[in-house]
Amino acid sequence: MSKDRPRSPSTPHRQSQGGKDFRKRVQRSKQQGETPQQTTKPRDGNPSAKPCIILKAEREKSLQRRHPWIFSGAVECIDGKPASGDTLPVRDASGYFLAWAAYNPDSQITARVWSWQEKDVIDKSFFNKRVANALEARRSLGLLPSPASGGGVGGEGRGIDPTTLSLTLSREREREQNSGNGMRLIHGESDGLPGLIVDKYGGVLVMQLGSAGPEHWRETIADILQELCAPVCIYERSDSDGRELEGLPKRNGSVRGTLPEGVEVLENGLRFAVDVAAGQKTGYYLDQRDNRALTGTLAAGRDVLNCFCYTGGFSLYALRGGAKSVLSVDSSQEALQLAQRNVELNGLDASKAEWQCADVFEALRKLRDQNRKFDLIVLDPPKFAPTAAFAEKASRAYKDINLLGFKLLRPGGLLFTYSCSGGISDDLFQKIIAGAALDAGVDAQIVKKLHAAADHPVLLSFPEGAYLKGLVLRVAG
Ligand code: SAH
Repeated sequence: MSKDRPRSPSTPHRQSQGGKDFRKRVQRSKQQGETPQQTTKPRDGNPSAKPCIILKAEREKSLQRRHPWIFSGAVECIDGKPASGDTLPVRDASGYFLAWAAYNPDSQITARVWSWQEKDVIDKSFFNKRVANALEARRSLGLLPSPASGGGVGGEGRGIDPTTLSLTLSREREREQNSGNGMRLIHGESDGLPGLIVDKYGGVLVMQLGSAGPEHWRETIADILQELCAPVCIYERSDSDGRELEGLPKRNGSVRGTLPEGVEVLENGLRFAVDVAAGQKTGYYLDQRDNRALTGTLAAGRDVLNCFCYTGGFSLYALRGGAKSVLSVDSSQEALQLAQRNVELNGLDASKAEWQCADVFEALRKLRDQNRKFDLIVLDPPKFAPTAAFAEKASRAYKDINLLGFKLLRPGGLLFTYSCSGGISDDLFQKIIAGAALDAGVDAQIVKKLHAAADHPVLLSFPEGAYLKGLVLRVAG
């Protein structure tokens, strides 16, 4: 029987080998101070037992559906004394191989799967293939230039004759002029690389290591990115709060090359200054690229309110799209400064832009009390519910801002409302918005459902990847 593929959930339970449960044997042998015997022969033929993760009986279902996380509650025992970040085989209670996963004793997620194939070796060439696949996926969608322009994301074009190179580079520049040079190159679990985020801002790559697996392979990953993408700098922003939950120290600094001054990203022809070292996330929110563009197409002649504006993404599109006025609100003074610089960078009409450094919850109430009205409102708050445990509290916050948003809209106005909370499902979000409209006393239609741009794909077996949800609503005229 093949052991490199998990059983399908419909397959009847396999008889445990030798009539004994592997888990019990592991426990007994542990009590006797022995090295437990594995039921599957290790791939390299070495008969000695390697460290492994053994699941509780019947807790293999989620792995069989190819969900890449192994929660601590599903783990019966860890055989051996592996270190954080080590690659371990995961076995079901009968000892059958399920996956290779990165172990983290300090996290609620004990392990994250690298591969479902027992024959796979988790080494540099494995990561090389995964990174190359992620780049190829984006090329095949027309998001990145084809390898004909040198293969490198930085576009160096090594190994190509000078005439072809200058032609391809100018074509690439033209393409970038039209679309942009910012891209999420690696989107964690959904690109088969759990915990690893890599964003590209022109020739600068920013990597974020969110779990013990990529932390362990940090140097290897940086080497591969350098070889495949030839960036001028790889900067590490492993300083999110999530690192603490994983028991990992925060890190912020250059990994390869030197971070150039004044990093910018070009997006649909708009220039945005990106604070790679100190900005939020990796410095910019690439996921909203397509949704910002949509807002731009609907802004002409409208009074726009952009809440949680960060460095002015939606505001700039609205200004370029011909908005009558754009009021932008954020609680970060640094973000607002950069936003105003971005307006200048693009030669947009600053007299139409008003900036408010404020708490949005309070600002919306003040605007209501002042009887201000808008034709288009964007609500793009931070993650109120990182997990489902925060859903209730977060629901109240979403309802509050959306209720106020509905009240500030003129008849026929548009509300672009978002949630980037993993803990809030599409259904729940829609229900919250419906409740907000009801309480605001408006009738509204959903005219479009939105999500992250195509460089943030969602692995079908990992619905958590679909964290960003948006609704475009039109209130009755
Ligand atoms: N729409 C932006 C991204 C928004 S990120 C874009 O397209 O780039 C969320 C923003 O909310 C951050 O800039 C953060 O500073 C801001 N923020 C968080 N809590 C806030 C609050 N209570 N009031 C105002 N701004 C807040």
